[in-house]
Parts: sequence; structure tokens; C-alpha cells
Amino acid sequence: MIRLTELRLPLAHPEEALRAAILQRLGIPDAALRAVHVFRRGYDARNPRAIVLVYTLDLEVAEEAALLRRHAGDPRIGPAPDTRYQFVARAPGGAMRPIVIGTGPCGLMAALVLAQMGFRPIILERGTPVRERTKDTWGLWRRGVLVAESNVQFGEGGAGTFSDGKLYSGIKDPRHYGRKVLTEFVRAGAPEEILYVSKPHIGTFRLVTMVESIRAQIEALGGEYRFGTRVVDLVIEPDGDGRRHVRGVVLEGGESLRTDQVVLAIGHSARDTFAMLRDRGVYLEPKPFSIGVRIEHPQSMIDRARFGPNAGNRLLGAADYKLVHHCGNGRSVYSFCMCPGGRVVAATSEPGRVVTNGMSQYSRAEFNANAGIVVGITPADYPDHVLAGVDFQRRWESLAFEAGGGDYRAPGQLVGDFLAGRPSTALGEVRPSYQPGVTPTDLARCLPDFAVAAMREALVAFDRQIPGFARPDAVMTGVETRTSSPIRIRRGLDLQSVNTAGLFPAGEGAGYAGGILSAGVDGIRIAEALALTALGQPVPR
Ligand code: FAD
Repeated sequence: MIRLTELRLPLAHPEEALRAAILQRLGIPDAALRAVHVFRRGYDARNPRAIVLVYTLDLEVAEEAALLRRHAGDPRIGPAPDTRYQFVARAPGGAMRPIVIGTGPCGLMAALVLAQMGFRPIILERGTPVRERTKDTWGLWRRGVLVAESNVQFGEGGAGTFSDGKLYSGIKDPRHYGRKVLTEFVRAGAPEEILYVSKPHIGTFRLVTMVESIRAQIEALGGEYRFGTRVVDLVIEPDGDGRRHVRGVVLEGGESLRTDQVVLAIGHSARDTFAMLRDRGVYLEPKPFSIGVRIEHPQSMIDRARFGPNAGNRLLGAADYKLVHHCGNGRSVYSFCMCPGGRVVAATSEPGRVVTNGMSQYSRAEFNANAGIVVGITPADYPDHVLAGVDFQRRWESLAFEAGGGDYRAPGQLVGDFLAGRPSTALGEVRPSYQPGVTPTDLARCLPDFAVAAMREALVAFDRQIPGFARPDAVMTGVETRTSSPIRIRRGLDLQSVNTAGLFPAGEGAGYAGGILSAGVDGIRIAEALALTALGQPVPR
């Protein structure tokens, strides 16, 4: 198989044009091209009037070796890499069962790969199974009732279950783990296209079914799930060399489970668990994250700005954007987790706090586009102690709760009012989608001054890139604080905690992933490291 990259064709090209372009590029007759597999299809919309599709193709051809020799100097033609996943280990009979804490994409992929290798993991999840969780999550959105252990952040499927389900990431992935994640997702019910479109997404409803299907696979392979099971402590004992080694976990209610290997895939909102880790002496350090708001515009405005006359084209779908601005005060403002045709959601996991985020369905057909507009902050902004970032988040989330009216409505402000520094008293044409509702107010009440100043500057700059971005009636709701983990649970080259052997910090909460795909990829890496460690083999770097 050979790989051909950067094959560019007009958006509206007829189907046969693809084959013709391949033959022309390779300089071969039709009979020599035996099969065409689209590996990736992206688009280049820099000129909205002449959008082109950009293909990466895997091709079965006659006399492959000769063809590759002929095109040896062309970086766009080469052998197709083998992206099939190869297991690194097989569990020996009687191996001790590892424990995986958390069923977000990281814990799920770690548990699945461990189960596929024969390790029969025990999976502990503080929240409820995904169907029950769906009801609880909608309970906050519809009735303003928060269930602290079953919500957007906690429960089967983890933080990304009620999301846009974007499945792309900028991580380096030389071992093609991302392909394994996507392949498992397709097997669990995701649409096939996620394997080849350049910016795949799944949307919320499919994610729910997929999470259940992955659970069924893990259980069929001997894994065991326990829901409503919060880990409240770790058993740590010295090993023969005097090193700290994890020997088990303690559950709420007092039950202990023995194990020598724990995958800690707890996400960025498990603040109580972060505190437990600190108290147990597990090495943690503060890390940068961001704070800001969600902004909403009509999706049709974004589509026009990005795709011009091609807005609405089926292959392009609803347009997204990615913006960044470096401000005069030294801060950077960027768009985060943009959700085309979606809605803003209430994403707190703690009572008395308001947090925003975004989601969509697969169709991305809702009226508004939304995205986080967030300002980068560093531990220098909250220097006191290792969990000071959590205190910082809580402070602004509580102020947002108050500013929203104290009943989980979000504080909101029109962009025009925000730029003019006056509170909003009413909403305009853009209707906010956040439920249980939005209270017009002044967002400066629940954001640090530096963030307000930076966002004011950035909104004007963004309007130059997307006309209408700073339109006076665009709506902002706040606060967006859970952009990533405020801590890193530092791990060594063997992927274990630097000071606690057998503990494998993983995914977003540990500071090693940001998003569904990268969390899943990290889960695979961790499963492999754990398996190799259990077998006494070195973990490759
Ligand atoms: P999580 O998914 O957070 O999972 C952690 C799990 O651990 C949770 O289920 C939690 O209940 C459990 N847990 C925590 N503590 C304990 C404990 N002590 N005992 C037992 N269980 C525990 N990313 C994208 O790539 N694309 C998107 O479109 C996207 N949209 C998003 C929309 C929303 C509304 C949200 C909230 C996030 C979104 N994200 C998106 C981010 C993405 O969801 C996360 O990056 C990803 O889920 C992180 O995976 P994880 O497995 O590391 O952690």
C-alpha cells in the first residue's frame, strides 16, 4: 500500500475526479490502480470562494516497489505506515488485577486495552451508569438540581460524554494510538467517517451508547465495573527497597481493595481526590490553566465568515473557528472547545458554583455557535500552595453562582456592554442557550481584572478575523474555569508517579491530556506501561 498526501480538488468535484487526479499524480494507467482508501479528508477554506478538499489516500497499486522508486524524491508519495494496533503484552495466568479509577476516555481506553491483554481490570467510578447520569445531568439543566456525584463531570463516560465529541488533537502520536481509539469508538457505534474526516466529531447522544458498548466489551473480557464507588484513600507501603508503593485503594464506606497497580484517571474536577493525594504525599505540582467565558453567535454568521458562498455545504458541515490573541498586558486569549451548532451547558460538579462549557449533537444543527474565550493563567497568579489553583477556580465559580442569582442560572452579558464596561440589563437578538437560564449582569463581577482587560482587547482583534465576532448582541456567559487541570501528578519515564510506585497518573486530571482523543491515547500508553511493569519488562520511551 502506498500513501499519497496533499491531493487537492475543488469542493464540488465529481466523484470520478478523485481517481483521475490520482492516476495523473502517480503517472499510471487506470488498470494499475487497484483500490483507493481515503485515509483523511480535510479542507482548505483560506479562500472561502474557492474551498478545496485535501485528501490523504492509501492506494493499492500494481508494481508498488517500482512506483515508489520512481517517485522517491516526492515527499507526498511513500509507503503507507502500518497503523494497526499491536498489543505489547499478554497477562500471565493468576496476574493481580489492576484497578482503574475513572471511566472517562482515559480510564475507558486503559481498562479496555488492559482487558484485551487479559488483565481483567476492576474499574471504579464515583458516578452513576451513563443512562442514570444522563437524567441527573439534565436535572441540573432543566430544573436547577445538582447531583454532586452524577453530573457533567462525574459518572460513566467522564467529562466528555455530554459534549460536542470532537475527536482531534494536536498531540504527537508516532505509535498511532489515536487510530486505535477511533477504531474502538467505531466498533462501539461511532460513525465510520471519524476514521477519515480531518475534524471528526460524534455529538452527545452517540457517546452515551458507545460508552455502554465499551463497558459490555470490557465485562465480556473479564473486567468488572463498580459504580457509585468513590476512592477516598490509597494504601501506600514501603517496598523492599524502601520506596513508596501503592498496595490498594480505600473506598467511601471503608472497604479496601488490594492491588499493586492503580491507574488514576480521575479528570480535572476531582478536587477532593487531589486533596487526598496531596495528604498522602503523592507528588503534585501546580500547572497553568485558563479562565474566561462562553461566547455565542448565530452559527449562520460563523458559516458565512468561514465558508462565504459555500456556507451550508454538506461536506463542510457547520463551520468552526480557532482564535488566539496575544494582549498588551502579556496575557494570551484564545478560543477553547468551540462547538458549532450546539449549546452552552451548566458544567459544575460542586454545589453553589456555576461553570460553563459547550456541547452539541452529531447534526450540529442548533441555532448558535459557542466557544470558550479564555485567558491563560499560570501558577504565578495563585502562588500560595499546590492546590491554590483549585481555590482560585472555586472563588470565581462561587462569584458566578451569586452573580447568576444563586440558583444555577449563569451570569451573562452582551459583548457591546462588556466592551463598554456597563452591566447588561436585557438580552438582544442572540438568545443564550444555557439552561436553567441566564441573568443579565456584569461579568466583571466574577472574573479577575486582568482577564476582563485581556478579553476586551481580544474580542476587538477577533472581530477583524471573523466579522461580527464583537457584535454588540453576542452573548457571553460565565465562568469557564475547567479548561484543564490546575495540577500535574508528575510521573517518571516509566509512567508511574515519581514518588509512588504502582500508581499510574493518567489523562486530563493528571495533566497529561486535554480532550477526549488525547485522554484516550494516554489511557493506551498507561495500559501498556502497566502491563509491561507487571511483567517486569522495561517501558519504552
Ligand atoms: P474525565 O473524562 O474527567 O473522567 C474522569 C472520571 O473519573 C469521571 O468519570 C469521574 O467521575 C471519575 N472519578 C474522579 N474521581 C474519582 C474517584 N475518587 N473515585 C472514582 N471515580 C472518580 N474534549 C474533546 O476532545 N472534545 C470535545 O468536544 C469536548 N467537549 C467537552 C464538553 C464538556 C461539557 C466537557 C465538560 C468537556 C469536554 N471535553 C471535550 C473535554 C474532555 O471531556 C476531557 O478532556 C476528557 O473527558 C478527559 O478525560 P479523562 O478520562 O482524563 O477524565
